[in-house]
Amino acid sequence: MPLDKLSYPKEDITVIWQPKLCTHSAICFKGLPSVFDPRRKPWVITANADKETIVAQVAKCPSGALSIKDK
Ligand code: SF4
Repeated sequence: MPLDKLSYPKEDITVIWQPKLCTHSAICFKGLPSVFDPRRKPWVITANADKETIVAQVAKCPSGALSIKDK
């Protein structure tokens, strides 16, 4: 059964991805391919950019599939 919510920690925040909401717009991996790459497992690697860059990219997700949670 697919998971509803996947979590990727980064310092004092967590990137949340909800696959059911993702519309595969490609905005995240075109904007920040070092962190978001659907051909890779895990497809999100938060170590590959700084927190501010990741937060800014998450804010551009049009579907709300990506979000940020404070730890
Ligand atoms: S930007 Fe959001 S909707 Fe688009 S592929 Fe990434 S997670 Fe999915």
